[in-house]
Amino acid sequence: MGPENAPIRVIVATRNRGKLDEIRSSLAFEGWEFVTAEDLGLEAPEVEETGDSFTENALLKAFAYHELFGMPAIADDSGLVVDALGGEPGVHSARYAGAKATDARNNAKLLAALDGLAPEFRSARFQSTIVFVDDSGHAIAACGTCEGRMGTEPRGSGGFGYDPLFLPQVTPGRTMAELTLSDKNEISHRGAALRSLRDKLTVRD
Ligand code: IMP
Repeated sequence: MGPENAPIRVIVATRNRGKLDEIRSSLAFEGWEFVTAEDLGLEAPEVEETGDSFTENALLKAFAYHELFGMPAIADDSGLVVDALGGEPGVHSARYAGAKATDARNNAKLLAALDGLAPEFRSARFQSTIVFVDDSGHAIAACGTCEGRMGTEPRGSGGFGYDPLFLPQVTPGRTMAELTLSDKNEISHRGAALRSLRDKLTVRD
């Protein structure tokens, strides 16, 4: 595994355009190509996320895609953990406001749940686990976290999901949605997980 054996084609287990762009830009090393089911002219399968943790769900998705497509697969499972809500929305982040909830509806529900809460009680973090499964079915997992707090109104048009509400500790006054893609990758949970994965794969640019 690694650049010595390039080229390598990897199926990305997601329908989320934002995640796909971040994975492609963070793991942009020569000889690796990240494709989606749609790129292969196939429908993206629905993998039930029945796990209790980001790692369990990332493993479920990566192994499902590896088996279905018969090629190396990469999956991210991630979400927002809000302390004042006992860790919610957590693994339910994508469907916080219902099974087919939009980002806007999830954000509106979250803002309502935190209504009136002072800044010192609005601490939160994004978490991500990335799982890569190679040709032979060997899995490597890597995790990343980004600490911050929840704002009181949506700001910015970059990223996806809860980005307009999340103020990373390291970018005071700016939400995650007000960062460029490369700035987000530098500080984000997914960026950290992808860098950790790169180290584990001992891949060099
Ligand atoms: P998953 O597809 O089950 O991993 O769901 C991830 C959900 O967590 C997304 O739909 C977003 O709601 C949220 N999320 C994960 N990562 C991010 C991020 O980088 N920015 C904003 N929201 C995120």
